[in-house]
Amino acid sequence: MIVEYHRPETLEEALELLARPGVVTVPLGGGTSLNQPSPTPISVVDLQALGLNTLAEKDKKLHIGATLTLQQLLDFEEDAALQSAIRHQATYNLRQVATVAGTLVAADGRSPLATALLALAAELNILPGEETQSLGDFLPLRAALQPGYLITKIIIPSNIKFAYEYVARTPADLPIVCAACAQWPSGRTRVALGGYGSAPLLAMDGPESAGAEAAARDAYHEAADQWASAAYRSAVAAALVRRCLDSRF
Ligand SMILES: Cc1cc2nc3c(=O)[nH]c(=O)nc-3n(C[C@H](O)[C@H](O)[C@H](O)COP(=O)(O)OP(=O)(O)OC[C@H]3O[C@@H](n4cnc5c(N)ncnc54)[C@H](O)[C@@H]3O)c2cc1C
Repeated sequence: MIVEYHRPETLEEALELLARPGVVTVPLGGGTSLNQPSPTPISVVDLQALGLNTLAEKDKKLHIGATLTLQQLLDFEEDAALQSAIRHQATYNLRQVATVAGTLVAADGRSPLATALLALAAELNILPGEETQSLGDFLPLRAALQPGYLITKIIIPSNIKFAYEYVARTPADLPIVCAACAQWPSGRTRVALGGYGSAPLLAMDGPESAGAEAAARDAYHEAADQWASAAYRSAVAAALVRRCLDSRF
C-alpha cells in the first residue's frame, strides 16, 4: 500500500529520498506492479520528472533510459524478434505505462523481456555510485540488494543477430518455455531461457553456437512446476533454441 508519494526533479533529490533511514522508500516506474494491493506500507519516489525516458544509439549500443515505457521501446525497435519479446511481455494497455527498469526489477522467470535482455548481455547503470552491473548478475541478487538503489539506464548491443521463440498455452499467455539467442559478429553466442522459476536462466555464453541445444536441454533438466514437467521443458527448450538458430543465424 502506497502511503507517501514524492516526485523529485533531480537525481540527487531522488537518491536522498530513497536513502532515508527507517522509511521503506522505493522507486516508482510505471507503478503497475507497485500499485497492486499489498499489506506493506511503502513510500514511493516517482521517477517521471527525472528525464530518464531517453533512448540513444552510441557506438553500436542502444542506451535505454530506465523509465522508457515498453511501448516506446517497441515503437523504436526494428528487430522483429525483439519486438516479439516486448509484445509478449505485456498487453498494449500495460505497455503504455510499464517501464523497462520496473519490468526487469519485477520480472520472474516467465518474463520474455528479461529473457531477451539476458541473452543480449544487457548492462544496467545503477546509482548511487558509478556502478554498471550485468543483468545476469542483477537478476538473482535483486532481493538481497540494499534498498535505495536506482537503475538509470539499460545498455544493449545494437549490431548483433537476435532470435526469440516461445511455447505458451495461448499466443498471448506468458511462456511455459521461451528461448532467446544472441550472436555477435565474432560468433559469440548467448542463449537464455525463460518460463520457469524466479528469474530467466543463462544457458550458454560461448565463442560459437555449437552446443547450444544441449546447453538448453541441460539448463532445464530440473525445471518442473505446476505448468510443465522437467522432461517437457528440457525437450522444448532444446527445440526452441534449434528454431532460433535456424531462423536468424
Ligand atoms: C493487469 C496487470 C497484469 C500484469 N500481468 C503481469 C504478468 O503477467 N507478468 C508480470 O511479470 N507482471 C505483470 N504485471 C506487473 C507489471 O505490469 C510488470 O511487472 C511491469 O512491467 C512493472 O513495470 P512498472 O514500470 O510499472 O514497475 P513499477 O510497478 O513502478 O515497479 C516495479 C518494481 O521495480 C522497482 N523499480 C521501478 N523502476 C526502478 C528503477 N529505475 N530503479 C530501481 N528500481 C525500480 C520498483 O521499486 C518496484 O519494486 C501486471 C500488472 C497489471 C496491472
